[in-house]
Amino acid sequence: MTRGNPLPKRSLGQNFLQDQGTARKIVSSLEAVSNVPVLEIGPGHGALTRWLVDTPAQIFALEKDVWLALAVKSQWPQVTVLAADAMRFAWERLGGPWSLIGNLPYNVASPIIWDVTSRLPRLFQAVFMVQKEVADRLTATPGNRVYGGLSAWVQSHVRIRRLFVVGPEVFRPRPKVDSAVIRLTPRPPETNRPDGPALRQLLNTCFQQRRKQLKTILRPVWSDTIADWLHSQGLRPESRPEELSPPQFQTLAAMLAASKS
Ligand code: SAM
Repeated sequence: MTRGNPLPKRSLGQNFLQDQGTARKIVSSLEAVSNVPVLEIGPGHGALTRWLVDTPAQIFALEKDVWLALAVKSQWPQVTVLAADAMRFAWERLGGPWSLIGNLPYNVASPIIWDVTSRLPRLFQAVFMVQKEVADRLTATPGNRVYGGLSAWVQSHVRIRRLFVVGPEVFRPRPKVDSAVIRLTPRPPETNRPDGPALRQLLNTCFQQRRKQLKTILRPVWSDTIADWLHSQGLRPESRPEELSPPQFQTLAAMLAASKS
């Protein structure tokens, strides 16, 4: 822990990991290789950074808290530190493959994961710690109570696996809930990248009205083609959004986009 630091900022989700064993386990969950740089989101006092610098990868860090960014830079000069906001970061500009890691600020973990999975041109691997409830939503499958737009969006872009659960006692200050570590890897190369804007719009429309039937939600754009396709998928006009898998959402989004053009 860096000395002389101000109080943790709740607004920045600053729950700092204290347990070296957990930090090591998180870092060793990432396959850090020499030819793929690793960007750590929110290094804080460097709980993960201190282990990352022992890997063969070149380490970058993105920290919104300028005071912490400076402290990381002075403690590990070999780390390239960017004092910037991950919510406003131009992920598209990271050319080549990148790995990501972070004990993510809990208040913004979902939008950060939404963004990086869809906007980073080439993900090699990512390991994130998030609230367990967020990990449950990210990994949920159709029909699950917590399956929703976030699950379908992220699973449309990457493969995702929950690795292990971490209790609140290893953080200062202590969060109220459990956390979980997840690993994201690219989807198989033969799968197409989804039509982002169309998928985003469809997911927003569907999950804002998740209790309604598809024929009601899609009434303005309903057609025989959609009805036939649902039938071919073993779905019905009365099915609800939570019954559609991520690939089914992608296909439906592409059909709706094609019917508009
Ligand atoms: N990695 C450290 C650890 O494990 O102890 C800190 C984790 S703490 C949960 C989240 C960190 O993300 C804090 O250092 C916080 O300042 C930083 N942070 C919060 N919001 C951020 C944002 N939008 N962009 C970049 N960093 C952010």
